[in-house]
Amino acid sequence: MEVPCVRVAREAGEATRSSLADADLIDDTYEISVADGQLYIPITDPDAASAVLEECEIVPRTVTEREQQTTPADLLAFDPTYERLGEAALIDEDDPERAREIADAILESDLPAETVLNKASKVKGETRVRDWELLAGENTTVVHREYGCEFALDLATVYFSPRLATERHRVAEQVSEAQRASESASGQGPRADGEHAFDMFAGVGPFVIPFAKRGATCVGVDINAEAIDYLRENARRNGVADRVTAINDDVREVAAEYENWADRIVMNLPHSADDFLESAVTLASDDCTLHYYDIQHEDDPFGPGERAIRAAAEPEYAVTVETRHTVRSYAPHELNVCLDVRLER
Ligand code: SAM
Repeated sequence: MEVPCVRVAREAGEATRSSLADADLIDDTYEISVADGQLYIPITDPDAASAVLEECEIVPRTVTEREQQTTPADLLAFDPTYERLGEAALIDEDDPERAREIADAILESDLPAETVLNKASKVKGETRVRDWELLAGENTTVVHREYGCEFALDLATVYFSPRLATERHRVAEQVSEAQRASESASGQGPRADGEHAFDMFAGVGPFVIPFAKRGATCVGVDINAEAIDYLRENARRNGVADRVTAINDDVREVAAEYENWADRIVMNLPHSADDFLESAVTLASDDCTLHYYDIQHEDDPFGPGERAIRAAAEPEYAVTVETRHTVRSYAPHELNVCLDVRLER
């Protein structure tokens, strides 16, 4: 049967598929197919797909109908909410009976999940790790894949959220375009070792690894020793260990060592990133892009971050907010946002 498909070069396939999936535009009734290095992704709404994708070719194509899979919803009297992380399914259920029912349905369904974990606390403390209840499977370790990178991690000991994959990709895509930062930072043309990127709260490396894959020289710092062990392992897994320095420390203790070094800084510690802006300014080179994450009330989601950055960086740096980006809704009336800010000395 002929259906509308987005046609995209295979290398760009995962990014396109993920953007379409985020917008719920993939027609799951049909298989995605490959021919002559092109991916054909069946879609439900061509107009909406054109609006979601920056560049987009939509063609009619004969595609195979997908074999009907049994989903957890087919086995329950309701449609349960779960997230996938590697071989695990993550749920958030207070009622133990309902949690058990969902876990059993997930295991019985065709979902390729061997582990089911139930959120047992909010993220907490300095390391932002939460407690998990193991409902099925052997342990809390997973290997998660996003945008061509592979991340091993243990949810019991490190922070990780698969929900931020699209956001991380948005930022990583800027690295290849960042030649201007490297050029002007050295004042003598591009740096031989690519852009210098510093992740102040690196976790297991979901920013550092794709940055390094794009040729950046990266430093990732985290106060959680387990996260840094995984960052090192993930650098090896993804073939970028030579471009990644992983440091287990409070980033405030490390900043002076990398003074004036960073062409790009990531600050993903919403709620308290403003406490670390002095260190960010120490790290910034003459021309640096700062990705500053914040959680604020929807009435003024960007104002507090921008004011804090200006207070820390001006007048030493000219501060230009290049993007005010809403990442996701965090809680009722609260937004998780990112400010992409250029600091020019
Ligand atoms: N960037 C990672 C990601 O997106 O998955 C991790 C983000 S998580 C919200 C924040 C991280 O900051 C945690 O891994 C935590 O251990 C680390 N952290 C908190 N305080 C820190 C500090 N003073 N210095 C360095 N790392 C810190």
